[in-house]
Amino acid sequence: MKTNEIYDTIVLGLGPAGISAAIYLKRFNHSVLAIGLDGGSLKGLHHIDNYYGSFHLSGDDILNNGYAQAKALGIELKFEEVVDIEVDSIVHVKTNLGNYEAKTLFLALGLGRKKPNIGRLKDYEGKGVSYCATCDGFLYRNRPIALLGEGKLMEEEYDVLSHISDKVYVLTNGKKVDFKVKVNENEIDHLEGEEYLERIVFKNGESLHVDALFIANGLLDTFKSAKKIGLAVNESDELIVDENGKTNVPFIFAGGDMISGVKQIAKAVDDGMKAAYAIHKLLSSKS
Ligand SMILES: Cc1cc2nc3c(=O)[nH]c(=O)nc-3n(C[C@H](O)[C@H](O)[C@H](O)COP(=O)(O)OP(=O)(O)OC[C@H]3O[C@@H](n4cnc5c(N)ncnc54)[C@H](O)[C@@H]3O)c2cc1C
Repeated sequence: MKTNEIYDTIVLGLGPAGISAAIYLKRFNHSVLAIGLDGGSLKGLHHIDNYYGSFHLSGDDILNNGYAQAKALGIELKFEEVVDIEVDSIVHVKTNLGNYEAKTLFLALGLGRKKPNIGRLKDYEGKGVSYCATCDGFLYRNRPIALLGEGKLMEEEYDVLSHISDKVYVLTNGKKVDFKVKVNENEIDHLEGEEYLERIVFKNGESLHVDALFIANGLLDTFKSAKKIGLAVNESDELIVDENGKTNVPFIFAGGDMISGVKQIAKAVDDGMKAAYAIHKLLSSKS
């Protein structure tokens, strides 16, 4: 991997964690390159009402404001796919379009949620189908809700939803799942509803009336190279960091949905800011 400029920091991820870190670092007068594929989790969300100052703003509004804010500071943004990372005395990042080098790296690649293969799922995303109980559960207070999933993610989502409604049906879509409440293991065929989700139709012909379907089907392995370069992960596949976002690999920090804690914008922004302070301190001690 060869390149000309060695940046003080490369930020991977253009979501709230990455852009927040980039803004703080640039304002500390460091050279920053921020790389990401797209808007991540916020892309296409209709409304974000629980983040401070976000009133009637969509996910795209927040993203575009963040990009504009970063560009106005002179931060270089590149919409490219990261395909490899190598670390020696500096950090090397390879994307589908180029090679970049930096003294430090902030990883904020978010997490991808696995989508099940259910007929008409896409038609009801944002219209009853959600991938985040903390974000959207509130909209379905005391209404019938289905939760599809397994493992730790499903258990966490259930804890949120069971405080919102006493009609939470746990579905496993054909899998055998042991859980503290009775689960429905029937395989799901498709979703139905006029404009918004109204019912889930199973392959055996039965159906379940619900106003919402929350999906906690597991997470995609956001970035396999993270493990390749020796970054430590916990049992939930989240990167392990200290209180300032520092990983076990020198020069590499991480934040946002890639590390443990609440998966929300406020926390991602905080992670980005804290890591920027720590990176600034590290860079200052080197110069
Ligand atoms: C359906 C849904 C609704 C939500 N609603 C809310 C809400 O109402 N309020 C709230 O506070 N939070 C909400 N969230 C959670 C919030 O979106 C996340 O917590 C937050 O976006 C995490 O920020 P992040 O910067 O860690 O990751 P993300 O915002 O996901 O950003 C990840 C970045 O990494 C990039 N990336 C990933 N892989 C690669 C790669 N290989 N190469 C290059 N770039 C890559 C992506 O393109 C993106 O730029 C919601 C999430 C979902 C899924």
